[in-house]
Amino acid sequence: MNLQTAEQKINEIRTLLNQYGYEYYVLDKPSVPDSEYDRLMQELLELEEKYPELKTADSPSQRVGGAVLEGFEKVEHRIPLLSLGNAFNEQDLRDFDRRIRQATGDDFSYVCELKIDGLAVSLRYENGLFIQGATRGDGTIGEDITANLKTIKSMPLRLNENVSIEVRGEAYMPKRSFEKLNLIREQQGEEPFANPRNAAAGSLRQLDPKMAASRNLDIFLYGIGDTGTSDVVSHSEGLDYLDRLGFKTNKERRKCATIDGVIDFVNGWVEKRPHLPYEIDGIVIKVDSLEQQKMLGTTAKSPRWAIAYKFPAEEVVTTLLEIELSV
Ligand code: NAD
Repeated sequence: MNLQTAEQKINEIRTLLNQYGYEYYVLDKPSVPDSEYDRLMQELLELEEKYPELKTADSPSQRVGGAVLEGFEKVEHRIPLLSLGNAFNEQDLRDFDRRIRQATGDDFSYVCELKIDGLAVSLRYENGLFIQGATRGDGTIGEDITANLKTIKSMPLRLNENVSIEVRGEAYMPKRSFEKLNLIREQQGEEPFANPRNAAAGSLRQLDPKMAASRNLDIFLYGIGDTGTSDVVSHSEGLDYLDRLGFKTNKERRKCATIDGVIDFVNGWVEKRPHLPYEIDGIVIKVDSLEQQKMLGTTAKSPRWAIAYKFPAEEVVTTLLEIELSV
């Protein structure tokens, strides 16, 4: 491919990704499956890597995620909410592991967590009292959705300790609530939501909190923005600390000493995933020690100490199975 065809291809992909991103993040109404979006993004990243002179600051590859909506107050995140790098197969996970080992040596461990398919939110508590909740937005500026978040019953309005803390998590719509909601929408002649993630995002962006309350959302907390004065030294201790404060964390997490343990955990969830009462779209793998996380640092878009393994899209899996069955 010469520079000119590469530029043409890059422009085509960027136009598509911008359109899909707008439909997904702003309209909550995707027109293509996530796997197609991920495939195009991967192709763009590879082309931009090969032709760095064609990289631009406004390329969709440079964005963390959503767009900031009108209609809500803006919130500036004191510590940016980043996205995660992706792994699509075992080799990608082994490459990630090699990079980590090169930087830290062999003395470290991973924590594997379910990647809940919802909406990233940040919650701020002052002296133990919930004072503000925001969407991730573009990573730096989010929308103030405090009133809507307060309708999530599992989210504590007061913590078990009078601490000032900023925590991060995933607000989501359980599968049952999603099915019920879409049934009602269809009965009322409204268009159903494409998936629980879009339904959750749409619900948290309702200007009327009563509407959000009727959507039966839930939340899992998975991180601390700033450890503040706590003596937490690892991610797994951080999760236990969140439990003690009264937050709901996901208990299906595992500490793994090696990448083989991680791969085993990932494979196990490929099987078990359909039986969960909520959607997951992958497994998040994080280096446990906060000191090692700090040493590894972040890129503009994502931390170097974590990666999201994305499950193959269910549509694609069906197609592969169908092909296998028909030959
Ligand atoms: P992402 O889904 O690749 O991963 C980052 C997010 O994972 C975090 O922000 C957090 O919200 C979430 N997460 C869930 N569980 C977590 C845990 N335990 N620890 C840490 N994080 C956890 O990134 P993204 O920027 O949120 O979304 C991009 C994805 O959205 C794409 O990969 C694509 O699949 C989808 N998308 C689809 C379309 C479409 O048209 N279909 C368009 C745009 C984006």
